[in-house]
Amino acid sequence: MRIAFLGLGNMGSHMARNLAAAGYHVTCYDVVQQAVDATAQDGLATAVSGVEAVRDANVVITMFPAGEHVLAAYRDGLLEAAPDDTLFIDCSTIAIEDAVEAARLATEAGHRALDAPVSGGTVGAEQGTLTFMVGGSAENFKPAKSLFDVMGRKVVHAGETGSGQAVKVVNNMVLAINTIGAAEAFSLGAHLGLDPQVLYDVMSSSAAQSWSISTNCPVPGPVPGSPASNDYRPGFATALMAKDLGFAKAAIESTGTPASFGMAAYEAYTEFNTGDNVSKDFSAIIETKQKKG
Ligand code: NAD
Repeated sequence: MRIAFLGLGNMGSHMARNLAAAGYHVTCYDVVQQAVDATAQDGLATAVSGVEAVRDANVVITMFPAGEHVLAAYRDGLLEAAPDDTLFIDCSTIAIEDAVEAARLATEAGHRALDAPVSGGTVGAEQGTLTFMVGGSAENFKPAKSLFDVMGRKVVHAGETGSGQAVKVVNNMVLAINTIGAAEAFSLGAHLGLDPQVLYDVMSSSAAQSWSISTNCPVPGPVPGSPASNDYRPGFATALMAKDLGFAKAAIESTGTPASFGMAAYEAYTEFNTGDNVSKDFSAIIETKQKKG
């Protein structure tokens, strides 16, 4: 396989390195020259444009911030420049309808497409332990599976086009609700005079357990490597969680699902997503729970 990897940010830079380390032929590109230079310094092949990167590829992986970037890149030259029947795999988290549109554009241009968003954060990207949720035909999923296995630990074929993004929407809605729940629990505990370490020791191994407590604990201390213990440096930025909850809101409304906690999480993160908070880890939402009402 000849892979073009586009989007060398917090996630993509690691994913591309892992593919190259596994012996794949990877050509990388990012619109930010610094990101390209850092990748080149690590010995990976780089291109001067996206179009140049995909010219010899038979697999194109994109890891961009949002749907608008994916659709613009597909429309503005990538689909035209890639050889016929190239497999376009978009790993960005984007709206379900944007994923469907991206796949439609790719198919119309004579290519194949998968939506393959990930969970597991920058640590998962670096360590190759991401979870992939993949939408698209079984025929297209099959050859891509070996690539997902290099970048991740768990790979789930969710269903047809858009299903990968649909799973991601549901997953991140629960993650936001759990994180707000964890934040409220630690704040209530503090107001009751409890030591956060005591709360952690119980809740990380009791029925209240969740990733938002045991791994991404929202208070500094109990988990030394967590964003909270590191001045809330992400991790997973509040801006990205707010974006994902916008997709959850759209999905809740379009399906008529009674999901008041999902909507409350959307509202809480939309309100929190201002100023410096935008680039803090999303567990920093605990700051909104610490003042007594
Ligand atoms: P990021 O902003 O760090 O990286 C995105 C990169 O894409 C940037 O370097 C940007 O310059 C580049 N880019 C944009 N348009 C481009 C184009 N046309 N050609 C080449 N490069 C282009 O974002 P990230 O944290 O790496 O996240 C990427 C995606 O993964 C997002 O959709 C995010 O929601 C999702 N995600 C992130 C995390 C996380 O913990 N950071 C976890 C799971 C999923």
